[in-house]
Amino acid sequence: MSDTRHTRVLIIGSGPAGYTAGVYASRAMLEPILVQGIEPGGQLTTTTEVENWPGDTEVQGPDLMIRMEAHAKAMGCEIIGDIITSLDTTQRPFVAQGDSGTTYTADAVILCTGARAKWLGLPSEEAFKGFGVSACATCDGFFYRGQEIVVIGGGNTAVEEALFLTNFASKVTLIHRRDELRAEKILIDRLMKNPKIAPLWHHVLEEVVGTDNPKGVEAVRVKHVETGEITEIPCKGVFVAIGHAPANELVKDVLELHNGGYVKVEAGSTRTSIPGIFAAGDLTDHKYRQAVTSAGMGCMAALDAEHWLAEQE
Ligand code: FAD
Ligand code: NAP
Repeated sequence: MSDTRHTRVLIIGSGPAGYTAGVYASRAMLEPILVQGIEPGGQLTTTTEVENWPGDTEVQGPDLMIRMEAHAKAMGCEIIGDIITSLDTTQRPFVAQGDSGTTYTADAVILCTGARAKWLGLPSEEAFKGFGVSACATCDGFFYRGQEIVVIGGGNTAVEEALFLTNFASKVTLIHRRDELRAEKILIDRLMKNPKIAPLWHHVLEEVVGTDNPKGVEAVRVKHVETGEITEIPCKGVFVAIGHAPANELVKDVLELHNGGYVKVEAGSTRTSIPGIFAAGDLTDHKYRQAVTSAGMGCMAALDAEHWLAEQE
């Protein structure tokens, strides 16, 4: 059934930025509606221990996001399980179309659509996605008990995924295109001390090799970036952890973007190139991309929206 809902502030996205915007916009009596999207709770629901959320020495990512949702709800934010499929910024109130058939009209919009895992773009990677190739160790690690696994990448995600996968795998090979990791020192230290993890430096994935019937991965072919030499590594699972790209689909043709697709906001604020549209979190941030910075920006966006709405009156 299709219907129309009007709100003063529509928050799109349910990661740390979205829920924090929900807390602040509710406390400003703006009666916000928050649409959660396809991944309620956002990226932190795909990880396990989070050790840098202030106030919690260690907290499970999914638990933290359940608490954030409950907090926003308790403050009065209406949380809706829907996906926004289009956003019309040419008219006011702004009009967002929900996948459910509901149309949302809003005086102001806070975009918190975050980021999504990047893929290498190899045909064999695509062919085995869901059949041995994954971008989420938390989701799929359990399938590889006692098996050999490879992880591609050299950032925090790759190192965390490699460490997590040692809970299941007999061996984890971390394949990185350089010989220096960009992950935090504390994680590198844990990686180097873990006897189940073997780093393979200066290599890139060339091809995922597997069978069609049953469909599954048997090995990867990797290339040395300097010599070009190809090596085959037997494995049952391939975890691609090469970073994230901003989820800008709703606004990529209407808002000013920079740094490869991140929504540009005015320095020190969350104002985008269209008045009344605000953006927060990983969608805008190519540099820090942390839960706490996203939450901080969610707070800023709610306050910016509140001030802007007051100015309009
Ligand atoms: P996201 O968390 O990316 O959430 C985006 C939200 O937008 C989702 O709810 C999605 O459903 C929604 N959405 C997208 N499109 C639509 C749409 N069309 N309609 C409606 N909703 C939509 N950071 C740390 O500080 N500490 C850590 O330990 C840590 N570990 C991490 C581990 C992993 C594996 C990953 C991938 C990231 C980790 N990060 C960590 C980074 C952290 O998760 C992100 O910086 C943070 O989640 C970004 O928050 P966000 O609110 O901007 O967006
Ligand atoms: P990232 O920091 O951008 O690292 C991506 C890694 O993948 C880099 O090592 C990069 O190599 C490699 N890479 C990129 N493209 C490649 C390609 N085409 N082929 C081979 N390798 C490629 O991404 P991330 O690790 O997903 O982290 C994203 C953000 O989330 C960061 O800000 C990170 O701090 C945050 N995060 C934080 C935590 C935490 O706090 N514990 C955990 C996870 C993520 P180069 O190094 O050579 O560029």
